[in-house]
Amino acid sequence: MNVLSCDRWPRVIPAILAFAVAAIPIRAADNVIALKAQHLFDGKSKSIVPNGVIIVQGDKIIDVGSNLTVPGDAQVIDLGDATLSPGLMDAHTHLTLDYSSDYNVRRLKEVDLNVSEQAIIATAHARATVEAGFTTVRDLGSRFVGSREFVDVALRNAINKGVVVGPRMLVATKGIGATGGHFDPTSGFRDFLFGREPDYTDGIIDSPDEARKAVRFEVKNGADVIKAAVSGGVLSLVDEVDTPQLTSAEIAALVDESHRLRKKVAVHCHGDQAAREAIDAGVDSIEHGSFMKPETLARMKNKGVFLTPTLMATEWIMSKLGNYPRALQAKAKAAATARSDMFRNAVKLGVKISFGTDAAVFPHGQNAHEFKLMVDLGMPQIEALRSATSNDAELLGIAQKTGSLEKGKLADIIAMPGDPSTDITATERVFFVMKEGKIIRNGPPSAPAAAKETNPADAPAPVD
Ligand SMILES: [Zn+2]
Repeated sequence: MNVLSCDRWPRVIPAILAFAVAAIPIRAADNVIALKAQHLFDGKSKSIVPNGVIIVQGDKIIDVGSNLTVPGDAQVIDLGDATLSPGLMDAHTHLTLDYSSDYNVRRLKEVDLNVSEQAIIATAHARATVEAGFTTVRDLGSRFVGSREFVDVALRNAINKGVVVGPRMLVATKGIGATGGHFDPTSGFRDFLFGREPDYTDGIIDSPDEARKAVRFEVKNGADVIKAAVSGGVLSLVDEVDTPQLTSAEIAALVDESHRLRKKVAVHCHGDQAAREAIDAGVDSIEHGSFMKPETLARMKNKGVFLTPTLMATEWIMSKLGNYPRALQAKAKAAATARSDMFRNAVKLGVKISFGTDAAVFPHGQNAHEFKLMVDLGMPQIEALRSATSNDAELLGIAQKTGSLEKGKLADIIAMPGDPSTDITATERVFFVMKEGKIIRNGPPSAPAAAKETNPADAPAPVD
C-alpha cells in the first residue's frame, strides 16, 4: 500500500495539524521579553537611534523602536548604556578547523588527530563564535585530508537540533578546486602518501563536467552554498598566490550547476584575472580579492557581486610571519601590500561589502576585530555594521528571516557597551546574545577555553 497516495492527503493533513496544535505545550519561551538599551542599531538604517526597545515573543521580534511602551506582562531586561543590534554575521568562517599559530604544527595536527576528535573540538569553536555575538555564519570549507566526513554538515545539524550551542550555519562542505591548486589537500605532501589522487569527492576537479559532478555531490551531502578556489592562495605550498586555477569553462559550469540547484557561489580569489573570469561567470561573492584592480571592482559593482575582504586573515598572518614557511611569507607580504588599496578602492566605488573574516586563521571568537580593520581603511562605522547585518543577510539569502531588527524577524539580538558608531571596537565587547529568542549570554562568556587560545605564543591556522 502506498501510504503517501495523494487522495488521502485532504483528510490526513487537517488531522495532523489538529494533533500538532493540541500537542504544542505552552512554553516559557513564549513569554514576552522587552529588551531596552540607550541606543539601537536596526541593521539597515544609516544612524543609531536613542532609547531602543525590542519586544520579543517566542523566537520572533514582535515590535521594535525608540521609546516604545512596554507591555505590562513583559519581562524587562534593561541593558543600560549599550547598543542593541541584530546578531552579527560572518560570511567567511571555518568552524571545523582548529587554530594554531604554527603552520607546521597545524599541518601535523590535521593528519594526526582523528576526525571525530576534530569534530568535538569544533563544538567549542561554535560556542565561542556565537558568544562573541555572531548568530549566523557562512562556513566556507571543511576538509580533512584522507577523510570523506562532512563535519560542517554534522555541526550545523547538531546546532539546529539544539544539541550544540552555536551560530546558525550555512555550510560549503569541501571547497572545489583544481589538481595542485589551493584546495588540493595532498599538495605539498609526498606523491601518493594518501594512496590516491584526490577527485570530485574531495572537491578536486579538472573539467567542466567534473565541476558539475562535484557541485551535485556536495549538495547531495548537505551543502547550503558552494565554495571554489579560482586563484592561488597564501597558505598553500605549491601554487602562486594570484594565478588562475580554474578555466573559464570550469567556473561557468560550476556557477551554472550551483544556481540551477539554488545555491550561491563564493570564490576564494586573490588574482585579478581570475576575479574577472569569476565575475563574468556570475559568482555571488569574491573572497579576499587582494590584487583586484579598480576596473575589476567596477565590474563587480555593476553586476552586484559582493566582496568579502577577510582583512583579519592577512592581518593575523602578517603579525606572525615568522611561523610560516618562507615561500608562504613572500605570498602573504604581496597579498597584504595589495589588499589595503584594493579595499579602499572598493569602498570608494561603492562595491557591496559583506563582513567575513576567515576565522580559524585566527582564534575563533575574535571575529569582531575585523570591524576596526575595515574602519581603519576608510569604511564608515555604520557601513561596517551594516556589512555584518543586512548586507550579509542579503548575500546569504536569509534577509527575509534575519539581519535586521524588524517586526516578524527572528529574535537574533545582541548588545554591546556604549555606541559602536563612535567607537567601533565596542563590537569586540558584546555582552548579551539572544538567538531565536533564547538568551545565550548575558554577562561574561562561558568559555574560558576561548580566552586561553588568545595567548599569542600558542596561536593560528590554515586555509587561505
Ligand atoms: Zn577561508
